[in-house]
Amino acid sequence: MTPPQPQSLTPSDIARIALKRLAELGLPPTPENYTKFYNAIAAIKSPTDKSDAELKSAYQVLFRVSDVLEDMNDTSATLLQDLERGGEVMDRSLDSLRQSPTPQQIEALLAELIDTTDTVRNTVSSSQRDLLDMKQTMEKIQTDLAINRKTLEQDPLTGALNRQGLEHTLAREVKRARRNMHALTVAILDLDEFKQVNDKHGHLIGDKVLLHFSSIVKAVLRESDILVRYGGEEFLILLPETDGNGARYVVDRLRQANIRTPFHYQTHQIDIRFSTGLAALKDDENGHAMLLRADEAMYQAKHAGRDQVIFAE
Ligand code: GH3
Ligand code: MG
Ligand code: MG
Repeated sequence: MTPPQPQSLTPSDIARIALKRLAELGLPPTPENYTKFYNAIAAIKSPTDKSDAELKSAYQVLFRVSDVLEDMNDTSATLLQDLERGGEVMDRSLDSLRQSPTPQQIEALLAELIDTTDTVRNTVSSSQRDLLDMKQTMEKIQTDLAINRKTLEQDPLTGALNRQGLEHTLAREVKRARRNMHALTVAILDLDEFKQVNDKHGHLIGDKVLLHFSSIVKAVLRESDILVRYGGEEFLILLPETDGNGARYVVDRLRQANIRTPFHYQTHQIDIRFSTGLAALKDDENGHAMLLRADEAMYQAKHAGRDQVIFAE
């Protein structure tokens, strides 16, 4: 069984977006420009790999489920066999009783009936115990699966959803928005010049800055909003029941909170800024199309000088 893969773009999708973006920005499609854009888009769109250990543990749970199902089949088969056998004995006994038997015959038949009833009763009660055990095992597996799934869908650094988690959640939220005729907005945030933070302070501090930033975002968001680590230094926020104006307001609050809360270590202060692309779900598009529009708006924000918000119209 193959684990579900997040939907990803084909190389030709990526090439098309890269060319489109170059044209929009009035940049010449030189090999350098094209490569830069292609790589940027491919890096963002490619699904994140999960570690072997996590996948292994997911598979272990699946194997356990399959073991329990096998046990359950065995138990049901034994129960069925005994019941059938019991039924046959009873039929035979009843037939004999109908044919005016002697008292000795009746006695023998009754003994046989009692014996068969006993066997069936024993099988039923032992099957019941087996089934109860299996039910408990299944419940345990269910809990483990939920934990497992959460781990598989979580970014270990920030605790935000990862891209795999986004697949699920996006589908769910789009469905919910349509059903309830609610707005759904997405914001894609890319930290500005983040490479410089790593270059200047090292990758470990870079990671801490990412964690710090994600906790600012979490503090600003409502319970129902969903934070996703969309790429290395790129975050995505799904805002259910929020229209374009609401989303602008959220991002604005986030920008203020971020400015007020720089990252400190030793004697250093690290101020980061971010560029944002916003898009609201249209009636005639799916969740991925909305994401793509937000992504393009984010690139426009970068190109317009960074540290700003662009709404995809
Ligand atoms: P821009 O304003 O154009 O977004 O500039 P940038 O430097 O942020 O963008 P670029 O895509 O050139 O580089 C992104 C950098 O983010 C590269 C990498 O060093 C850093 N980065 C990506 N993921 C991580 C991560 O998980 N941890 C750390 N510390 N840095 C990361
Ligand atoms: Mg980036
Ligand atoms: Mg960046």
